[in-house]
Amino acid sequence: MTYEPVIGLEVHVQLKTRTKVFCGCSTEFGNEPNTQVCPVCLGFPGALPVLNRLALEYSIKVGLALNCTVQEFTKFDRKHYYYPDLPKNFQISQYDLPISKNGYLEIQINGVSRRIKICRAHLEEDAGKLIHEENHSLVDLNRTGQPLLEIVTEPDIFSPEEAYEYLVNLKSIIQYLEVSDCDMEKGTLRCDANISVRPKGSSGLGTKSEIKNLNSFKAVRDALEYEIERHSETLNAGEKIIQETRLWDDKKSQTVSMRSKEEAKDYRYFPEPDLPPFIISKENLSEIKNTIPELPKEKKSRFIQVYGLSEYDAGILVMSKQNADYAEERLKIYPEKDKKPVANWIIGPLTATASNLKCEVSELQIIPEDFVALIDLVEKKQVISNLTGKTVLEKMAKTGKSPDLIIREENLAQNSDEKSLEKEVDAVIQENPKVVADVKIGKNNSLMFLVGQVMKRTKGKANPKIVQEILKRRFA
Ligand SMILES: [Zn+2]
Repeated sequence: MTYEPVIGLEVHVQLKTRTKVFCGCSTEFGNEPNTQVCPVCLGFPGALPVLNRLALEYSIKVGLALNCTVQEFTKFDRKHYYYPDLPKNFQISQYDLPISKNGYLEIQINGVSRRIKICRAHLEEDAGKLIHEENHSLVDLNRTGQPLLEIVTEPDIFSPEEAYEYLVNLKSIIQYLEVSDCDMEKGTLRCDANISVRPKGSSGLGTKSEIKNLNSFKAVRDALEYEIERHSETLNAGEKIIQETRLWDDKKSQTVSMRSKEEAKDYRYFPEPDLPPFIISKENLSEIKNTIPELPKEKKSRFIQVYGLSEYDAGILVMSKQNADYAEERLKIYPEKDKKPVANWIIGPLTATASNLKCEVSELQIIPEDFVALIDLVEKKQVISNLTGKTVLEKMAKTGKSPDLIIREENLAQNSDEKSLEKEVDAVIQENPKVVADVKIGKNNSLMFLVGQVMKRTKGKANPKIVQEILKRRFA
C-alpha cells in the first residue's frame, strides 16, 4: 500500500521587543546567565505580570500579515507543567482565545500556488534554558519570559517540500515585518512538526508523531521524509503507530522516541487570574494595519510588472527585505529597458561575492551607480569580459573603488582590436592541428576549445565574441 503524509507545523518566533513579555527585564542575547531576571519572571509569589504592549502589537501584525482574523477579545491562560527551566511551574500562554486565528500563507511549488491554512497564532512566554554538562545540568533563566509567538498550521501540508516552502515564506514575511530576527541558530525561530500518513486518496487522519529538535529548515524536510518512510513501513508490516514525541538526530539522520505525547487536558489550562482580558478595538487594529509594509508577495508582483523580471528572478530578489531594497535601488537607475542583466548580476556574481566575504548582499559597500556602471561595461560596451567583470566586482566590494578605476589601474580592459586578435587566433590554429580537424567536421565544442586557448594566450583579455567571429571566418 502507498501512503500520503499529512503534516502540521508549529513555529515559535521570538519577538524582538527590548523587554520581556510580562516584566521589564532585558531580552538582550548572550549575556551572563541569570543576570536578566526579576521577581516576575522568576515566579516569586505575589509578583504580578504586566503585558508588554509592543509584544501584543507585533503579534497582531503577524496575524494580519498571515491573513488571520484578529480577535476583538483575547485573554491569557496558565499551562501547567513542571520542568527545571520553568520557575513558576506554569507558562502563561493562550488556550481558547488566541490573538489571531483562521489565516493562510500562500506558497508556490513549480509555479503552482497553494494556500496553507493557519489555525492560530498566540502569544506566550518562553521558558529558560538548560545547559547540560557531564554530571549535572545548569539553569539559565535569562530567556524565561521572553515573548514568543506560536504559529500553528492546520494539518494541511502534504509533502516535506511544501513544509519547507511554508517555512521559508513564513520567515520572509516575519522578517519583512521586522518583529523577529528568525535566526534558528540563536533559537529565535523554532519549529516542531507533526506528521501522520494515510492510504493515498483517503481522507481520514492516521496516528501522528511529533518531531522536535529541528534546527534548520533542511532538518525539517529530512526528518519528515524519514518519518513518512518509518510510518509507511510500520503500517505495511501490520504494526501500529504509537502517538509520541520523537527527536531528530541530525548526525544520524533519524528520529528517536522521546516520550508519549501529552494532550491538552494534561496541562490543566485555566485563565490567568493576574492578567485582565484584552480588547483590541477596530481603531487599534487599523492603526497596526497601517504599519505593515509591502510584503514579499506584493513586492514580487510589482518587480515583475515594473521591471519586467521573470517570476523566478523576482522570487529570489524579494526573499529578504534588505536585499530586495538593495536590488531595487539598482534596478531603478539601470538605464536600459531590459533590466534582466541587473537581476542576473545580483543573483549570480554579487551573491557569490557576498558569500565569499561572509556577509549579506545588502551589506556590500558597492554604491548603486558603480554597480550599474560595471554591468554596462560588461554587457553593452564590452570593455571587459564577463569573467573579468566578476573579478572587478569582488575588488569593488573589497576596496569601494569604481569599476573604471579598477580597470585602468590593473589594465584589465579587453582587447577588441581585430588585427591583433587575428594574430592570436592564427597562432592557436597552428598549435592545435587535431582540434582544427575536429572543427572542420563540425564539432562546435572544439571551436569553443580554440576560443578558450586564445583567452588563455591573452590572459583573459581578448574579446571572446570577436575571437569567435574570427575563428568562424577562418573555417567558413
Ligand atoms: Zn523579569
